[in-house]
Amino acid sequence: MSSKKFDFDVLVIGAGPGGYVAAIRAAQLGLKTACIDKRSAPGGTCLNVGCIPSKSLLNASAYYQQVANGDLEKFGIHTQDVKLDLQGMMAEKKKTVDELSQGVTYLFKKNKVKHIVGQASFLSPNSVEVNEQTISAEHIIVATGSSPSVLPNFGTLSDTVVDSSGALSFSEVPDHLVVVGAGVIGLELGSVWARLGSKVTVIEYADSILTGMDKDICDTALKVFESQGLAIKLSCEVISIEQASQQQRGEKANIQTITLKSRESDKQETIAATHVLLATGRRPNTDNLGLQNIGVQTDQHGFIKVDDRFTTNCSSVKAIGDVTAGLMLAHRAEEEGIAVAETIAGKAGIVNYQVIPNVVYTQPEIASVGLNETQARQHGDIKTGMFPFAANSRAKTNRDTQGFVKVITSAEDDTVLGVHIIGSQAGNMIAQASQAMEFGATSEDIAYSCHAHPTHAEALKEAAMSVLGKAIHQ
Ligand code: FAD
Repeated sequence: MSSKKFDFDVLVIGAGPGGYVAAIRAAQLGLKTACIDKRSAPGGTCLNVGCIPSKSLLNASAYYQQVANGDLEKFGIHTQDVKLDLQGMMAEKKKTVDELSQGVTYLFKKNKVKHIVGQASFLSPNSVEVNEQTISAEHIIVATGSSPSVLPNFGTLSDTVVDSSGALSFSEVPDHLVVVGAGVIGLELGSVWARLGSKVTVIEYADSILTGMDKDICDTALKVFESQGLAIKLSCEVISIEQASQQQRGEKANIQTITLKSRESDKQETIAATHVLLATGRRPNTDNLGLQNIGVQTDQHGFIKVDDRFTTNCSSVKAIGDVTAGLMLAHRAEEEGIAVAETIAGKAGIVNYQVIPNVVYTQPEIASVGLNETQARQHGDIKTGMFPFAANSRAKTNRDTQGFVKVITSAEDDTVLGVHIIGSQAGNMIAQASQAMEFGATSEDIAYSCHAHPTHAEALKEAAMSVLGKAIHQ
């Protein structure tokens, strides 16, 4: 592609999983490419303050809990004087983040993507200003992601009233953490701090945790999380959060007073906590991007509007990932990054939005792909099959038998419409279900595929066999 008129063929704004993947794929396709990010460390939200640091803490806190609670004693492993070194845990998290970010820098160099650190703002449909310089490109991809959206009546953030980034770097274990929002981020980070010793109260506006997921999964997950010590208050609206300093109250720690109202009874109550995590959603990053200079349209929630080729109403400007409407997931952004680069290079860049897996990295993990049962029933008659991990030999061996696999198929032709898993290995297991759905598999296709024994994956085979009424171990 020739772009003598421009500095670059492709300029990507944002080096998150959408942006850096788009930049690398564009460069692989022979396009002269640059990627701008205001963070010096590439990787975006996901790598710096999202997926990676949260999974590091989830993993480390699970290790801690296993030894601190004596969970390993049943296997004959006895430990003494278990101590938590939170700074050590945070240092290991930082090391992981740094190594992966350096990996992206290496990939930029390897693929000859020019990495520019700075805040970009549109000057025209083919140019941006960054570091007081103008850079032009034939195609500009906006991949600026999203940020926590904190409701204004919750006051300002502090060391103790935090968003997800703050909850990834508390300097001490909160005595009592109130989490506002029982979505993925609230439950993952609430689990981390509960494992490390915090009392955790989760407040949710809806009448279920993890809204949008399959009801059987939500109901089971609620019971499991409550059995782990999380106090979960559903159908409650947080009205205010008042922060009082320790000097004001003469107490050991700052106290936050959270006032909430039951949506069923209108009854109000207050909860005192040392820390509050606001996990009430995220908003697209379009501030200071100069979209108004080029007339790029956004929807009523501020997401950049795109067509099925990721193109905005301004033909040289594309947008992908969290800054556009859809599932706010790193792997969706990555798929779109590849597809938009291939589209620009004249290939058919396609993302199958029907088959995007979703994982909650709690213990047990929760993973789903495709339609939940309520959604599937709206499309016609269905069949379902379920298989509990209590009957799976590997889960039994590992003594981690919580949860089940649920397969939903079309009653008409047995095509798999959705798979929902709650279980210790759910995050890895869902890949098989996604691939089966991508290939248009039936439950019979899964049921008659040979699965290694003993593995958790056999539970998916058995759930598929159960759709056909043929489960062996149930
Ligand atoms: P981002 O990753 O948000 O990257 C956008 C980049 O653009 C940022 O680096 C930003 O600095 C830069 N930028 C913004 N504006 C400008 C500008 N004007 N100029 C220059 N640069 C700019 N998703 C998963 O799939 N799995 C998980 O386990 C998971 N865990 C998460 C845990 C937490 C705590 C959070 C907060 C999120 C998590 N997510 C997870 C969501 C995931 O992080 C996002 O969906 C993903 O990062 C979106 O990628 P993106 O490329 O669209 O944007």
